[in-house]
Amino acid sequence: MRRKLVVGNWKMNGNRAANATLLAGIAEGLGDAAAACAVCAPFPYLAQCEAMLAGSPIGWGAQDVSSQPGGAFTGEVSAAMLTDFKCQYVIVGHSERRACHGESSELVARKTVAVLAAGMTPIVCIGETLEQRDAGQTAAVVAEQLGAVLAALDDAALAQIVVAYEPVWAIGTGKTATPAMAQEVHAQVRAQLAARNAAGVQVLYGGSMKPDNAKELMAQPDIDGGLIGGAALKAGDFLAIIHAAN
Ligand code: PEP
Repeated sequence: MRRKLVVGNWKMNGNRAANATLLAGIAEGLGDAAAACAVCAPFPYLAQCEAMLAGSPIGWGAQDVSSQPGGAFTGEVSAAMLTDFKCQYVIVGHSERRACHGESSELVARKTVAVLAAGMTPIVCIGETLEQRDAGQTAAVVAEQLGAVLAALDDAALAQIVVAYEPVWAIGTGKTATPAMAQEVHAQVRAQLAARNAAGVQVLYGGSMKPDNAKELMAQPDIDGGLIGGAALKAGDFLAIIHAAN
């Protein structure tokens, strides 16, 4: 059985004091949780995560990365810089990056390659907008977004990624895909991975996952955990989701 993974995406939230309280709270309540867990913090707080989490079972990572190795790319952060802070995970292709920064599936694929080359785990986000779902395009959109990443990786590299299916209309809206709706897309993602001998890749669900819906979502056969936004900012809610993944 694939081990469950629950990852917090803090987005552009937090400050030193609030992060310290949040991380201490998570560490305190983690106990013997069966699921793996991690937090993806804004770049300036990666050093704080490293200082507070090193040696603990809680992983940490970033929310984006440059596809470039270094040089004249003002404002960008390279994969090598993230490994300097011992990041284990990097979210790539989050829908907010795709929508607000025009990231294409090809760029997301290049970022995925850069993360893997640096020895970290990319969490590759895919998902359809409400307009695309209403137009019956969900399967095609998700297949194209994942397909671009699959095309850039050989089988050994592919086995190292994590995929997060996040319907855009469910992110930060309080609207969650029903477990059946989510499972239908996850099964498609699993089949696409299996066609490349990568059925063992973890596929997370993200989109308004909360303590009260996490258990049922993560009980679906092809949902291997969660990528959590809003609920990852409260230690109690994040812990409840982690423990629901047991
Ligand atoms: C996310 O940002 O990846 C996310 C899933 O957000 P939320 O849980 O707030 O919908």
